Amino acid sequence: MSHGANAEDLALFVESATDRAVILTDVDGCVTAWLPGAENLFGWKAMEMIGKPIDCLYSRNDVAARQPATERKNAANTGPTRSEGWRVRRDGSEFAAEATTIALRNPDKSVRGFGLSIGDITARKAAEQALAHSELHVRSILATVPSAMVVIDERGNILSFSAAAEKLFGWSEADVIGRNVKMLMPNPDHDRHDQYLARYCSTGERRIIGIGRIIVAERRDGTQFPMELSVGEASSGGRRIFTGFIRDLTEEQRAEFKLKELQSELIHVARVSAMGTMASTLAHELNQPLTAIANYTRAARDLLDRAGDPPLDLLGEAVTEAAREALRAGHIVRRLRDFVARGEVEQRVENLPALIDEASRLGLMGARERSVRVTFDIDPTIQKVVVDRVQIQQVILNLLRNAVEAIGENELREIAVSTARDSHGMVRVVVSDTGSGIDPALAPQLFEAFASTKEQGMGLGLSICRTIVEAHGGRIWAEPRIGGGTVFQFTIMTADEGEIDE
Ligand code: ADP
Repeated sequence: MSHGANAEDLALFVESATDRAVILTDVDGCVTAWLPGAENLFGWKAMEMIGKPIDCLYSRNDVAARQPATERKNAANTGPTRSEGWRVRRDGSEFAAEATTIALRNPDKSVRGFGLSIGDITARKAAEQALAHSELHVRSILATVPSAMVVIDERGNILSFSAAAEKLFGWSEADVIGRNVKMLMPNPDHDRHDQYLARYCSTGERRIIGIGRIIVAERRDGTQFPMELSVGEASSGGRRIFTGFIRDLTEEQRAEFKLKELQSELIHVARVSAMGTMASTLAHELNQPLTAIANYTRAARDLLDRAGDPPLDLLGEAVTEAAREALRAGHIVRRLRDFVARGEVEQRVENLPALIDEASRLGLMGARERSVRVTFDIDPTIQKVVVDRVQIQQVILNLLRNAVEAIGENELREIAVSTARDSHGMVRVVVSDTGSGIDPALAPQLFEAFASTKEQGMGLGLSICRTIVEAHGGRIWAEPRIGGGTVFQFTIMTADEGEIDE
């Protein structure tokens, strides 16, 4: 201890270091020093162990496999030797240990004994195992969650990728692990994602986390698709991780597209119904040129009736004006025709349950998410109806949308759709809701155009419904529902066998 460290201090330190077992042995592995840490760990007292081989600290199997001797040999030949394995206490119980064996040498380098330092790592092993276990758990979740799931760290690097995500994006987990999540996005998000993350991490301002958004994603093959992304945040070991749940919206968008198609048709019908209002305006407008033409032609005839040569210049002027007015009238008529331009209402035999099913799927989009319960009571004996499918679907769609809106935040949230036979070869379609009920002030004009209680409402829906239903020879009406809400019903013609050729 030439550097001033005092042998006594050193001995003191070694004595009081009780969290590890420090043991010295001779060349053959018999104990020469047994410090208090060893006593703590193994339960043997120094006087019991001094002079004894350390074999009793190993399991029977390890002794049979000559593990203690091997550790000494390795320490002597190659330097300090670390090992992990089971060790045995005095009471026979075992614990996971981590041990270092060091050869102690004479000045001539010959080995004179060994020093062992042994620690209990049972707790650490258990923690490692728990971790491996929870990792396994996470793996099993990733393999089975039906929605695609992507976990990233705060720099955007992908940490895990669920089986559903593999299927959705066409990448395998091995392809994407460690890569930046922007590889799953087309521009502009692709180039901006790092920025989004950095901004969130520094400002905490939420744009998507906990909110959810609809964005466009890119598959491995470069095709793009709409998806709904919700992101959750967690911190793990001081690091932030973000878990994205992805729902493929391709199907929904297809439905939406269909809805748009129907809506454009609807707008067309709205125009037709508005035509009723326009008719008088048009009659008035047409009246002007027609009167003018009559006047000019009458004047021309008067000029011709006069004695003497007819005043050709005046005659020419009258005829020219008459022609111009005729053109103006034609122009108005053409405008009218363009305005109403529509395919003829095409009434065919259609399947009512299928028609209702399709319209309901569109009309009730989002209703279930808003926990509206929808029940169907469709009479299976009523199949064929004679209708323009698109138009009658619009009626059903309008009624359903109104029903969902009327329910709003009501506690009772139910919509019932049913069909029933009516008199004279007609069937009734019924849509009832547990909503607010019809505003009494509105009730008398309910089916008139521009009657609405909604801020954004056009008040055209029900007037269009009436136009359509009446064009089909049916009628539509509303009644209060017993217990609150409204029942809308309309009738259409059935095609009972024999009446209509298919
Ligand atoms: P809009 O929905 O644009 O207002 P509509 O013609 O479809 O036009 O409806 C007219 C009005 O009738 C609505 O504003 C609403 O006040 C009322 N209404 C329609 N359906 C219902 C219903 N199921 N329950 C209560 N009120 C309704």
